[in-house]
Amino acid sequence: MDKEKSERKDRLFYKQKNGYELIDEKELEKLESYCKGYMAYLDSAKTEREAVAEGIKLAEAKGFVPYRTGMELKPGTKIYHSNRGKSLLLAVIGKKPLSEGSVIAAAHVDSPRLDLKQIPVYEDNSICYFKTHYYGGIKKYQWLTIPLELHGVIVLKNGETVNVCIGKDKSDPIFQITDLLPHLAKEQRKKTSDEFVPAENLNLIAGTIPDKEEVKDRVKLAIMDLLHKKYGIIEEDFLSAELSAVPAYDVREVGLDRSLIAGYGHDDRVCAYAELAAILETDAPEKTAVCILADKEEIGSEGVSGMKSMAFERFMGDLCDTQGVKLSHCFANSFCISADVTNAFDPVYPDVSEKRNAAKINYGVAICKFTGHGGKSDSNDASAEVVARIRRIFAKNNVVWQMAELGKVDQGGGGTVAMYMAERDIDTIDAGVPVLSMHAPYETVSKFDCYMTYKCIKAAYAEK
Ligand code: MN
Ligand code: MN
Repeated sequence: MDKEKSERKDRLFYKQKNGYELIDEKELEKLESYCKGYMAYLDSAKTEREAVAEGIKLAEAKGFVPYRTGMELKPGTKIYHSNRGKSLLLAVIGKKPLSEGSVIAAAHVDSPRLDLKQIPVYEDNSICYFKTHYYGGIKKYQWLTIPLELHGVIVLKNGETVNVCIGKDKSDPIFQITDLLPHLAKEQRKKTSDEFVPAENLNLIAGTIPDKEEVKDRVKLAIMDLLHKKYGIIEEDFLSAELSAVPAYDVREVGLDRSLIAGYGHDDRVCAYAELAAILETDAPEKTAVCILADKEEIGSEGVSGMKSMAFERFMGDLCDTQGVKLSHCFANSFCISADVTNAFDPVYPDVSEKRNAAKINYGVAICKFTGHGGKSDSNDASAEVVARIRRIFAKNNVVWQMAELGKVDQGGGGTVAMYMAERDIDTIDAGVPVLSMHAPYETVSKFDCYMTYKCIKAAYAEK
């Protein structure tokens, strides 16, 4: 019979261990306290705007100040810049000049959701609805019948902003999209899941009580009246609004051992928080530490607040100018962790992954050399040198980590901001938390992996 144990095998084989075999009681306490902080952040950040506002609050409490052009920057100076309230850049100035590069961590704070259309309000058969347009990659059926909140802003013609948040307070009403009862779903069930929920069926119920005035669209009139009284808006104001329906679920622990966290928007606020927590604890690093919370990743990193925007060049260029350094030289010597989630191997659906190379729950922060699809198309594909560098950092700092790939080859794929950072001549690698049920209204991650992602970024910032 073959022996299971062998000294040579131990020495020569690559072995991965469950993270819980590798940490002690003291570190478990740190893990729990870190995750408490994360759960509170996630509960208060259901849109990119809220994630930015909450990030600023945490940063200011740790001495970060808004960046002003021309301000004095010394090693240890802590600054932030809000890009239109939708993405956030933070930096702690390093001891070394920016010509030697910076250490950047880039996550995104937008998540899949249902945006209200520009002209959303209508009445049909005495029910008033809001029409939506989904944002990001969703399975539409997952959004039926679940409780939804409405978050966002309405910017009036005069430029004044009205903040909207309905459903978060437990005394608020929620919104809901209906589904067909099984009794009458014979035809619906024959269709594929992509077909059986047409996108134009994703309409939120807004109300049902008709106005006293006997006119056409009495329910809509009554709802517009409620909105006018509460927010001072008229229907035309929806034209310049950004309102999103997001799941009305609280962040909760999962499992009898409470090892997992369920919440809306782990992708990618779980990495955004890891970066935030890491940079907030960084004082006078060797190289300037930069933290990016980007917007629009879920729709291709487009737009002024997305990672393709020159807003990043402007911020970094300004910092370089104060030291008389060329931005291109700073970028060429910089190192970026594109901190984004990846797919966790799901034993219920093993067929979509190749188990030797898939990220596993509780095995630590997941490093993706490439994302993309097919023959590594549309991916960053970090070099062996960059992977070796991250191996070194992790080994020195006891970061538990694993290699990952997003599904079997030719199964599908996905992207992150990594390739837009690499396009800037910055050495970049993807690292993040493996997620179960990614892009669902309620996603699941492991506390252990959340904590290791924070440790990964903290170690990168601290590198000499
Ligand atoms: Mn993501
Ligand atoms: Mn995503």
